Amino acid sequence: MIEKYFRPQNVEEALALLTDAQKDLTPLGGGTSVSRHQEAHHGVVDLQDTGLDQITVQGQRIKVGAMVRLNDLIGHKDIHPEIQRAIMIDASENIRNMATLGGWLVSSTGRSITSSVLLTLDTTLTWEPGNNKVRMGNWLPLREVDPPGILITEAKWWLRPHLAFEYVARSPKDKPILIVAVAQWGSGRTRVVLGGYGKMPIVAMDGTEDLGADVACRDAYSEASDEWATAQYRSDVAAKLALRCLERIDAIKESEV
Ligand SMILES: Cc1cc2nc3c(=O)[nH]c(=O)nc-3n(C[C@H](O)[C@H](O)[C@H](O)COP(=O)(O)OP(=O)(O)OC[C@H]3O[C@@H](n4cnc5c(N)ncnc54)[C@H](O)[C@@H]3O)c2cc1C
Repeated sequence: MIEKYFRPQNVEEALALLTDAQKDLTPLGGGTSVSRHQEAHHGVVDLQDTGLDQITVQGQRIKVGAMVRLNDLIGHKDIHPEIQRAIMIDASENIRNMATLGGWLVSSTGRSITSSVLLTLDTTLTWEPGNNKVRMGNWLPLREVDPPGILITEAKWWLRPHLAFEYVARSPKDKPILIVAVAQWGSGRTRVVLGGYGKMPIVAMDGTEDLGADVACRDAYSEASDEWATAQYRSDVAAKLALRCLERIDAIKESEV
């Protein structure tokens, strides 16, 4: 049960509440996850009035406030169509209207396409207190044991890379059992992320070119067995989907010439 509710008007007020050890408060984004586990929360700090709901382009990157709702990313001109497609698959309309980017990143698992795609784009998170910038790939493995702060204020990712993902699910509305997301920069840098298994998506490859993406995927999921699929299946199919993503990116690049 939520015993105490605070609604600060800016980030400084929110931090003052959240860093007060005696109050024992938890950040509240859209509340879709927090409200399902009410017994765990003594009190919450609702972030909806803190101004963390802005989307701005800064050079080659886009900065998205932690309180931006998933639905606000849909149809936004600067949000890559593949990110929008990922959100549409991951979340129902009700969840999209409520869930925030910050809350999603904190609570989603390896089976989230949205989180996989944002990891592919080498997203950096800003944590407070301390204005601590942390790459998502460094944060995810430590998410539960050593968070770099109390509050995520924004996420920043690259705008320019070509991006494609492929996934496998038992039905269109089911959570994926395998996700492969590929981002390719103009320099040739190619970053491949796998999801659909475990607590978080993982980076299978981050290289200066795309050579070996299929082998990297095969290796990265060589032990990814659970009740939904065997490691043999995941690693075989991940290798094929990585090549399919690269073919799609090549086709996009050709159409731009
Ligand atoms: C019906 C339903 C279906 C779902 N399906 C899926 C699914 O298919 N795949 C999937 O991955 N997830 C799924 N989820 C979980 C979903 O990821 C979360 O419910 C949602 O994204 C949380 O977002 P929120 O803004 O509501 O966060 P909240 O519920 O407000 O918070 C979630 C957690 O994040 C913390 N938090 C929130 N904002 C911040 C911040 N700015 N900084 C630091 N910590 C913060 C909170 O303290 C809490 O621990 C589902 C949830 C529901 C209710």
